[in-house]
Amino acid sequence: MAMNAQGRPTRAEVTQAAAAQRAPTTFTGNRALQIEESLIFEKDAFDKTGVDLPEPKGTSRLGAHARDGAIGLPGLSEPETMRHFVRLSQKNYAIDMGPFPLGSCTMKHNPRLNEKMARLPGFADIHPLQPQSTVQGALALIHELAEWLIALTGMPAVAMSPKAGAHGELCGMMAIKAALEARGEAQTRKRVLAPESAHGTNPATAAQCGFRVDSIPADRSGRVDLAALKEKLGPDVAAIMVTNPNTCGLFERDVMAIAEAVHEAGGYFYCDGANFNAIAGKVRPGDLGVDAMHINLHKTFSTPHGGGGPGSGPVVLSEALAPFAPVPYVVKENGGYHLVETRRAAEAEGEGHAGGRLTAFHGQMGMFVRALSYMLSHGLDGIRQAAEDAVLNANYVLARLKTEMTPAFEGYCMHEALFDDRFMKGTGVETIDFAKAMIDEGYHPMTTYFPLVVRGAMLIEPTESESRQELDLFCDALLSIARRAKAGDPALKSAPHHAPRRRLDETAAARAPILRWTAPDRE
Ligand SMILES: *Cc1c(COP(=O)(O)O)cnc(C)c1O
Repeated sequence: MAMNAQGRPTRAEVTQAAAAQRAPTTFTGNRALQIEESLIFEKDAFDKTGVDLPEPKGTSRLGAHARDGAIGLPGLSEPETMRHFVRLSQKNYAIDMGPFPLGSCTMKHNPRLNEKMARLPGFADIHPLQPQSTVQGALALIHELAEWLIALTGMPAVAMSPKAGAHGELCGMMAIKAALEARGEAQTRKRVLAPESAHGTNPATAAQCGFRVDSIPADRSGRVDLAALKEKLGPDVAAIMVTNPNTCGLFERDVMAIAEAVHEAGGYFYCDGANFNAIAGKVRPGDLGVDAMHINLHKTFSTPHGGGGPGSGPVVLSEALAPFAPVPYVVKENGGYHLVETRRAAEAEGEGHAGGRLTAFHGQMGMFVRALSYMLSHGLDGIRQAAEDAVLNANYVLARLKTEMTPAFEGYCMHEALFDDRFMKGTGVETIDFAKAMIDEGYHPMTTYFPLVVRGAMLIEPTESESRQELDLFCDALLSIARRAKAGDPALKSAPHHAPRRRLDETAAARAPILRWTAPDRE
């Protein structure tokens, strides 16, 4: 099997013997109540329609634009349509079905209360272009959520409009760039430092903003090597991007020394806040010297993601960067709320807000409602307990699994437990086989081959949502796979065996995806 430097297979390989281990086929292709489902275009329904529309009378007013051929869309009846989409939905794993241990993603339970609040017509049925006097409640909600984020992070300002973590990074790095421009140093400070273990969005964001990315090595404990970092600092450094707790699931103990060193060198400290769930209510990033940090509401504050809903990535900003926040933002005045929507209006308010506009409207309103609902129903003490339980759960998993699997680093972890592939050395079984075997056991795989600093990485984030009983079953299942791996069980090489589809060529799917259906006779 061809491998890249992190031990990730670069192409799929299923041996003949393994492929022969298929379950017996059925006449329908169905597997018990898992119904095989074709593409909607393959249902041969082009000459049908699910609704009866009257023939148009008279001549078309479209002139030369009138359609002269069949539209080429399948026309299913309502029950056929329902079945198609419900069957497809059942091919999808969801947090409402079982543990979703995808490390770094914080796949926690999405409380139903949040959903109920988001569906209130006063939030769900409004439009961003409505007169502000008619959406005072929505503006009040954005304002209150902003205040919670400011209080939880100890930072003076927050930009609410970014629509995902990566988008928040863009917002923060653009604020840094604008601040450097204002200092007249945009031309000289072109380098951004990021640890080797960084999430791919960090270097991507820095590069997108025109910076050169320089990676900082990790020390033996899996944390930023402070001495190596200090050596890299200089008058051309714009910023450092550090995740804390980091992507190895470890708290950067030197974070304050890191912030101090970067500030001394004239740079800014961007903190990737994707892992805030581990410290929310316990640590305020503002006290650590952070200048900008995005908060993935869809991770820490329980709004659905991973196919369940859009993200939302507000960015908190330090005193130094606040003047470069984007518009729009909400201001509370005379007992009412209003939106400051343009740079000119922001200047009139006496605030810089040189960042301009990042999104068409004010952010992900539905996610704001859900996140604030989570905060209000938990309270600060509940948020703190969630963080503690998330860390406790991850350490429970670490303690149970290390009897068979090899932790990547020594000691306790924060909210996620990281393993490498040493325990499978010489068996022929790889991380990808282990992950696929988890699907057969009814689990979404953990994050694999990330962070890149660990060979064959397996990153498990149980979150606080899982009970002891659920964690025990999960750990028992993983321990059994680990034992099978050590015994070199060949069936692992062709897992999953019980899924609707078998082992896919993920590399081809990522690099050469076929996104367009072509009618067989037009091929
Ligand atoms: C999830 C994540 C991001 C990106 O956030 P999105 O909301 O997916 O854009 C960035 N960094 C880390 C460490 C993450 O886990």
